Amino acid sequence: MDTVPPPNDKPEIKYTKLFINNEWTESSDGSTFTTINPATEENICNVSEAKTADVDAAVEAARAAFELGSEWRNTDPSQRGVLLNRLADLMERDRVYLASLESLDNGRIYSQIYLYDIPGSVKVIRYFAGFADKYYGKTIPVDGDYFCYTKHDPVGVCAAIIPWNYPISLFSWKLAPCLAMGNTLVVKPAEQSPLSALYLASLIKEAGFPAGVVNVVPGYGGTAGSALSHHMDVDKIAFTGSGATGRLVQKAAADSNMKRVSLELGGKSPTIVFSDVDIDYAVATSSCAIFEHSGQVCSAGSRTFVHEDIYDEFVTRSIAYAKKLKIGSPMDTSTEHGPVVSKEQQKRVMEMLQSGVEQGCKVECGGNRCESRKGFYIEPTVLTGVKDDMLITQEEVFGPIQQIYKFKDISEVIKRANNTRYGLAAAVITNDIDKVMKVTSALNAGMIWVNCYYPASPGAPFGGYKESGFGRDKGQYALEQYTEVKTVITKVPGF
Ligand code: NAD
Ligand code: MN
Repeated sequence: MDTVPPPNDKPEIKYTKLFINNEWTESSDGSTFTTINPATEENICNVSEAKTADVDAAVEAARAAFELGSEWRNTDPSQRGVLLNRLADLMERDRVYLASLESLDNGRIYSQIYLYDIPGSVKVIRYFAGFADKYYGKTIPVDGDYFCYTKHDPVGVCAAIIPWNYPISLFSWKLAPCLAMGNTLVVKPAEQSPLSALYLASLIKEAGFPAGVVNVVPGYGGTAGSALSHHMDVDKIAFTGSGATGRLVQKAAADSNMKRVSLELGGKSPTIVFSDVDIDYAVATSSCAIFEHSGQVCSAGSRTFVHEDIYDEFVTRSIAYAKKLKIGSPMDTSTEHGPVVSKEQQKRVMEMLQSGVEQGCKVECGGNRCESRKGFYIEPTVLTGVKDDMLITQEEVFGPIQQIYKFKDISEVIKRANNTRYGLAAAVITNDIDKVMKVTSALNAGMIWVNCYYPASPGAPFGGYKESGFGRDKGQYALEQYTEVKTVITKVPGF
C-alpha cells in the first residue's frame, strides 16, 4: 500500500466561481452560498450559486461544443482518450491537494481519499479513455438486398447531479464514459461539497478539452438541479443521491423532453454472516461495511444478519470493534472515524436512531453525538433488538449505525435480506460454497460481495435493483448510458 504523505491542512481555495465554456464566471444575479468544513463547523468560503439563467448558459455552451463541426466533434476518438489520460495524470500530480480539499469540504478522511478515491477515480478515467476508440457497433445480416450496421453515437448534452459523499469519485465515474463516447457535460456538484468539482474543472481545462465540453455549476438542488433535470436541451441526466430526489429527476425528465435518465440511489444492504466463519474476519468486514465514511455510503452494509450459533460472540466483538475506532480530525492520518457532512445530516441520523430506540432497539454502544468536540460527529453505534418492520430497518440512515439481526436458516435470511425496497448491494460471509451460490443467486442486488465488502474496479459495474435505481456506473455497461444505437440499412444491388 502507498504511504500517505501529510495533507495540506489549509489548502488554498483557488476556484469558487461557475465554470462555463472554460471561463470562471459569477452567477447571473451575483448570488453565492457558503460551504462549511464539517469537522470544525467553520465556513470555508463562498461559492457562486448557479441559478436557472446560469444553468441555461452552461447547457448552451455544452450544446455549442456538441454541434457538428465543433472542435470537440472533430476530435478523433483516440484523441479523446489522450485528453482523458491527461486529466488522469493531472489528478495524480495534484493528489495531495485534491485529497486535502475534498476532506476539508466534505469531512471524509483525507487518507481514505488519498489512498482510494483518487487512485480509483484515475483508474476509472483511464479505463474509459481506452474505450474512446473501442466501443463500436455491429454489421448485422438482414433479409433482402440490404446492408445493415449499427453505430454508437453520443447522446448529446449530458448532465450529472452528484451528492456530497464521494464527490471526486462520482464526478469521475460520470465524466469518463460521457466524454469517452463524445458527449458534452454539465455537472452540478452538491451544495455541501462543491470545491473538488471546481478544481477538477480547472484540470479539465489544463488537460486541453475544448471550451464547453465540461461545465460545472455549483448550486442548490431545488434551483440548479431542478433547472437541469427539467431542461429541454439536456439529452441525458445521470443522478446519484437520495431516492426522493431521484424520483423528482425522473419525473422532471418525463415532464420535459424525455431525456435519458440513470439513477444511482440509496440502499439498505444486507451483510449475511454464517456460522462457519472466522468471527474476527467477519466482524471486521461487516463493521467496515457500515462504518466506512461514517456510514455515508449508498452501498453501506447497514443490516448485519448473523447466524444464531455465533450471534452472541459476534455482537460482543462488533461492539469492541466499534468502540475502538479512533474518532478524530479527517486531516489526521491516524483517524478512523470522521464527522458526517452537515448539521442536517447529523440531525437526520440522530432522529432515525431515536426512532429505532423508541421502537425498542437496544443501543449496545455509541448512540450519541460527540458532544465534546466541534464538528458533526456521531459515535459509531451498534444496535440490536432491531425488527424487520421498524422504520430504521426499512429506511436508509446514511450514518454510522450498525443494526445486527439474528437468523436461523438460509431460506429465512434470504427472504429477510430481500425484504426491502432497495437492491443496491449485499454481502455474504461463509466458507460454504453451496451457501455462497444459493445466496448470490437469490439476492436482488446489483452488487454482491462474497467474503469481502467494497472492493471495486473500473471494469466492475455498479448500480441497483428496485428502488436503488437503474443504469450502471463503471464497466463496459456504463457506455450504454452515454450512447445511442443508430441502425443504418442501405439498399445494395442484388445479383
Ligand atoms: P439529495 O438527493 O437531496 O442530493 C443529491 C444531489 O441532488 C445534490 O447535488 C442536490 O443538490 C441535488 N438535488 C436536490 N434536490 C434536487 C432536485 N429537486 N432536483 C435536482 N437535483 C436535486 O441528498 P441529500 O439531501 O444531500 O441527502 C439526503 C439523503 O440522501 C441522505 O440521508 C442519504 O440517505 C441520501 N444520499 C444518498 C447518496 C448516494 O450515494 N446514494 C448520496 C447522498 C445522499
Ligand atoms: Mn462543505
